[in-house]
Amino acid sequence: MADEWNTRTKLVHEGIRRSQYGEMAEALFLTQGFVYPSAETAEQRFVQSGPDEFIYARYGNPTTRMFEDRIAAIEGTQDAFACASGMAAINAALSCQLKAGDHVIAARQMFGSCLYVLQILQGFGVEVTLIDGTILDEWQGALQPNTKLCFFESVSNPGLEVIDVKGVADIAHAAGAKLVVDNVFASPIFSKAVELGADIIVYSTTKHIDGGGRALGGVVCGDRDFIRGPLESYVKHTGGAMSPYHAWIMLSGMQTLDLRVRAQAENAAKVARAVEGHPALSRTTYPGLPSHPQHDLAMAQMGSGGTMVALELQGGKDSAFKFLNALEIIKISNNLGDAKSIATHPATTTHKSLTEDERALIKITPGMVRVSMGIEDGDDLVADIMRGLDAARG
Ligand SMILES: *Cc1c(COP(=O)(O)O)cnc(C)c1O
Repeated sequence: MADEWNTRTKLVHEGIRRSQYGEMAEALFLTQGFVYPSAETAEQRFVQSGPDEFIYARYGNPTTRMFEDRIAAIEGTQDAFACASGMAAINAALSCQLKAGDHVIAARQMFGSCLYVLQILQGFGVEVTLIDGTILDEWQGALQPNTKLCFFESVSNPGLEVIDVKGVADIAHAAGAKLVVDNVFASPIFSKAVELGADIIVYSTTKHIDGGGRALGGVVCGDRDFIRGPLESYVKHTGGAMSPYHAWIMLSGMQTLDLRVRAQAENAAKVARAVEGHPALSRTTYPGLPSHPQHDLAMAQMGSGGTMVALELQGGKDSAFKFLNALEIIKISNNLGDAKSIATHPATTTHKSLTEDERALIKITPGMVRVSMGIEDGDDLVADIMRGLDAARG
């Protein structure tokens, strides 16, 4: 029955485990351990635990499991494992299946911390090749006999370049490699990653899934053999599990995920259309605009332009700062996917540690501002952005 439910129904009901009290809301099992009725039960549980048998919260917890079942149902994977943050999830998804001598191909337009994890792996003898992920020939050309994984953000942070999930999946699979996709910007609502061939899909749940900017979290989605095999072993022994308290926050966030993300994407489209061509801007980047270089791919792959817009102000950093400082509704911060709209200046904050050349390579200019659209009234957001653009010109 639950298999036939549509996304919004699953987001509210899927995965729920009710205790003997029949509580309506998802219960918060804030416990690290579990009492065994006998020594024999304890012994047995360490041999094999059933779906409702737990040992220790680092291994699993009923509230965390509810969250894992719900996200797996939405994403369309057999299983999922919840982690302490998006980075804990990405680190686990890569590290649990790589060893010295293996080779990874990754798109260079990527979140700085992901590049850091790849550097750590290189230190342990993993070979890494960074390429321009939007060019399929570069994936093909970088293949080696020892290539184990291809890894990229399906929509890059903050440049909003869209990478062809199916195209890379076909190349990876033909070479016997697996595909790991960081799908944060697409969100589970606009994700078709499974049907496009991604093997492992990773989210920072800190973003759209929480949706209220409250708690850190991450999740790895994939087939059961991988999730309950190498991935679970890695996380449970290295300590990157999600707190049950955070899983409980994510469960509550998920109930409104579809409503929020669709409203955010509508606002993003409205703002992008309203500002494109504004004289204060040298570029408006939004995958939902026909002017976006991968517009057709974005629409085929996500069915939406997503919730993020990147603006490039004429006049560089000065104009970008004038724009940011004039905003009244949109907050200056660095989270994304929040119900509240957020504007970020990547060159001086999230991507400050890169050199100017490295930033240029991934198209982060001094005038670039990344805006994560919230669920506020779309006309109010357009007015706020226009206020900023007018200030930038003045
Ligand atoms: C935020 C983010 C991460 C890291 O997630 P945390 O929850 O902050 O650890 C990874 N990838 C992308 C694309 C992100 O936006």
